[in-house]
Amino acid sequence: MDRFDLVKESFERKEVPAEVPAGKTSDYFGELVFDRKKMCKYLDADSLQALLDCIEGGKPLDRKTADGVARGMKEWAMEHGVTHVTHWFQPLTEGTAEKHDSLIDYDGKGGVIETFDGKMLAQQEPDASSFPSGGIRATFEARGYTAWDPTSPVFILDDTLCIPTVFISYTGEALDYKTPLKKALKAVSDAAVPICKYFDPSVSKVYSYLGWEQEYFLVDEGLYSARTDLMITGRTLFGHNSSKNQQLDDHYFAAIPPRVSAFMRDLEFAGHRLGIPIKTRHNEVAPNQFELAPIYGETNLANDQNQIVMNLMNRIARKHGFVVLLHEKPFEGVNGSGKHNNWSLGTDKGTQLLAPGKDAKGNLQFVTFFVNVLAAVQKHNALLKASIASATNAHRLGANEAPPAIVSAFLGRTMTEVLHKLLEVPSDTPIEIAGKKSKSIGLVEIPEVFVDNTDRNRTSPFAFTGNRFEFRAVGSCANCAGAMTTLNAAVAEQLIAFKADVEKEIAKGKKTPVAIMDALKPIIKSVIDTVCFDGNGYTEEWKKEAERRGLDVETNVPKMFAEFTKPASIEMFTKTGVYTQKELEARNEVKWETYVKKVQIESRVMVRMALNHIVPAALEYKAKLLKEVSMAKEIFGNLDGCTTEMLILGDINKYVEEVRVKATAMKEARKKANIIEDIYERALAYHEIAESLYALRKPIDKLEEVVDNKMWPLPKYRELLFIS
Ligand code: ADP
Ligand code: MG
Repeated sequence: MDRFDLVKESFERKEVPAEVPAGKTSDYFGELVFDRKKMCKYLDADSLQALLDCIEGGKPLDRKTADGVARGMKEWAMEHGVTHVTHWFQPLTEGTAEKHDSLIDYDGKGGVIETFDGKMLAQQEPDASSFPSGGIRATFEARGYTAWDPTSPVFILDDTLCIPTVFISYTGEALDYKTPLKKALKAVSDAAVPICKYFDPSVSKVYSYLGWEQEYFLVDEGLYSARTDLMITGRTLFGHNSSKNQQLDDHYFAAIPPRVSAFMRDLEFAGHRLGIPIKTRHNEVAPNQFELAPIYGETNLANDQNQIVMNLMNRIARKHGFVVLLHEKPFEGVNGSGKHNNWSLGTDKGTQLLAPGKDAKGNLQFVTFFVNVLAAVQKHNALLKASIASATNAHRLGANEAPPAIVSAFLGRTMTEVLHKLLEVPSDTPIEIAGKKSKSIGLVEIPEVFVDNTDRNRTSPFAFTGNRFEFRAVGSCANCAGAMTTLNAAVAEQLIAFKADVEKEIAKGKKTPVAIMDALKPIIKSVIDTVCFDGNGYTEEWKKEAERRGLDVETNVPKMFAEFTKPASIEMFTKTGVYTQKELEARNEVKWETYVKKVQIESRVMVRMALNHIVPAALEYKAKLLKEVSMAKEIFGNLDGCTTEMLILGDINKYVEEVRVKATAMKEARKKANIIEDIYERALAYHEIAESLYALRKPIDKLEEVVDNKMWPLPKYRELLFIS
């Protein structure tokens, strides 16, 4: 099938109706999750109590209890037709891993029976030796094991019982995303509780919350299959701009096309059955770009749910003749995709720590956490950027779209004013709810709720939005755990330091609120002068200003990763118990290696497509033109009527030659890079290659403009982006 057949076929592709039962969402919400309701129904009293102690109090599960829990789970699972079980984990690749085992075992009478016990539930040893480990397992022990994370509910996917697990080496190093995330969540709770106790002594736990917004593109599967670059790298390596892109803003929030809507409904149904509170769906800015967001939840669970949703998206899209693109920048010239991480903290008593309180005390607590978060972001701005950096997200970083490659924080006018005011007034001035007291000089006021944050600054990578911070720099295909681990750990470190400051002030005989405010003031001054920035993050002036303020302005991704093993980062991560130095070093190795491989694959695909698809098409057109010219010469004896043909021939020669020269240079650069021993140095060399991809792209996109449309072998942007 040529390109035109594919275009026609995709244009005529009929909508496949969504299969969502009539009735209320609440009727089927969570039916495929072993949640509290099922625990109560399927577990005996002892197992239930032990499991709840384990989930809520972090108590270990003994073998007997695990057997009891497994018995109940098995009964529930078999009622849903489950035949297999898997430990489901998040290795340092993109996506999740699973190895299914059937439930059968010999019954000793020549037949088989279904078995599932506490041992299978609690621990498995997948021979997962091919996952990236940064040398940890090669050096110490050949294998890793997976262990159940009881705080993440077990769920059913098709015929398989999926048990969310951590993935650890025998020597105890984390080999996955979940383990450090859980450690960071514990660290932030442990550090935040003593501070909450200044305000409410009954607080015993602090939760970190995550609400992710997943952006993605949909393309027709037929057109996708004709674009080798999309299939292999997840993005188009070339493609001339379509005349109409997103200039008219006519896609953003527009009516959802029926085929897409059917896909979304199937996806939501599948997500809801798995207990994922999917709430929002809409068209995004770029053509064929969409977004989905759930109601926020506890960070570890919310992150698992994001991983599940990304898996579901891929499967369900195919039913509707689509392929989902989760890459951060599938198309040049239109917006890329991110995954905003809305993040907040809250106590086990239901208090939101990043929202204004009910009274002066509550407001002081809010300001305390608010300012300490900013301090953590200030101190670790380079590290936070490193936590969202990847070969794929690099195409958004520093480009003229969220986020700029500088991590600053947007506060909005109200909170900026509050912070300035706090520096002016005596430390015992209460922070009142705006409008409750009559205006008086020197009063610090805060609104009870931030009704519609009107001055929401889209160019800020870390923005306060009324009751949370929105970390917008996270990439659409990333595992949120990377960013959430770093953020929570950095905040934990800061809260520990802050507690010590407050205690020093209290030791001087000050009342607690005054001690807190006196400890806050120097921090407020410091964050205002460095990390707080409400202006346009895309301007050149901001880059200069940020550098002057001491913020990190690095745009080279391999160099960003190096931030993880700098002394301040090692100290922060070890002090909070989130990563050991060895783990940090191993992870960096994985990051550099992944970076190298991704760029290497892109570069190979690009060179091959340039030589096998693009150049032949250009030469075919060239031959056609040459034939015409030579015929003209034969008939008229001169080339007077061939000005256009001659000009086009000149262009083709120029661009084809450019493609050849640049492709050859790229191959040579790869050869040189490949023999560099040191992985960091090799990653730096590959960074140069990544930059040169743009240079090779240019003459190819020029050729697309010149070559006869009929001869162009690849679906064009205007076809990929507008058919749905
Ligand atoms: P917008 O696109 O305007 O930023 P959305 O409604 O698309 O907002 O998404 C906002 C996300 O933030 C949702 O997932 C929502 O549940 C989440 N969210 C709201 N409040 C909090 C909070 N306190 N902590 C964490 N996430 C939150
Ligand atoms: Mg949104």
